[in-house]
Amino acid sequence: SAVAGRRPEWLRVKLPSGPKFKEVSDTIRTHSLNTVCAEARCPNMGECWGAGTATFMILGDVCTRSCGFCAIKTGRPVQGLDWDEPNRVANAAKLMGLKHVVITSVNRDERKDGGAPIFAETIKRLREEIPGVTVEVLIPDFRGVWDALEYVIEARPEVLNHNLETVPRLYKQVRPQARYDRSLELLKICHDRGLRTKTGIMVGLGETPAEVFEVMDDLVDAELNVMTIGQYMQPTKMHLDVQEWVHPDVFATYKEIGEAKGIEHVESGPLVRSSYHAERHL
Ligand code: SF4
Ligand code: SF4
Repeated sequence: SAVAGRRPEWLRVKLPSGPKFKEVSDTIRTHSLNTVCAEARCPNMGECWGAGTATFMILGDVCTRSCGFCAIKTGRPVQGLDWDEPNRVANAAKLMGLKHVVITSVNRDERKDGGAPIFAETIKRLREEIPGVTVEVLIPDFRGVWDALEYVIEARPEVLNHNLETVPRLYKQVRPQARYDRSLELLKICHDRGLRTKTGIMVGLGETPAEVFEVMDDLVDAELNVMTIGQYMQPTKMHLDVQEWVHPDVFATYKEIGEAKGIEHVESGPLVRSSYHAERHL
């Protein structure tokens, strides 16, 4: 059953403010871009932007999927691909002084290529604008169309991230249009092609620790490099209930066990998001 009442004290954080923060927000707005950081009012914004990392969301702001935890608008996107978007991301990232850029997107399941060519172009444009930049892409599953994935692989991002989001038993509520095995396969393919791979799950959705450990075993088999584990927080009352506020000690245990099992780096904590401390996982 759902937890009620106030968030535990370890989840209460101040939203960022101040001149640096305002400057960065203005740059994003004047480039008509979306950052996950701002959209999700991510609690780590001050820290990440200060450390030179931000997460841009490309391929528009309407998603063809309807994951139970996600506040992005669901629908059928009215536009094709926006080939100027990679330029805007590269210019904004340069102005923001970013050294490590995380690029994610909505799903564009109405397209055969899933929008993958825009991921590739964005990586290319970032490299042209910011010498020495490192890029992490957090990609959709492209419905298992591995020809689409190929665009991304060939652009050689420094980190290839694809979130499993939760344990397989909860996929029906949490990621109805996704398949656990397909996502694992994607990570395995990218590893086999020589990319550094990363994934993340949320906890507090009703999973058991044993189920989390099974996911870790699957990730060890896929030779995954980096795993993130964070607390699920309900974005609105229309979204899935939080089943549990997972205690910080449990997060610490997850890190210890995941790394003991053989995952190179596990970033685990209540406020951990997919892109939290991303610049440390290169
Ligand atoms: Fe942005 Fe990710 Fe950092 Fe949150 S954790 S501020 S979404 S880069
Ligand atoms: Fe949100 Fe991604 Fe699911 Fe779309 S696919 S609803 S953007 S989590």
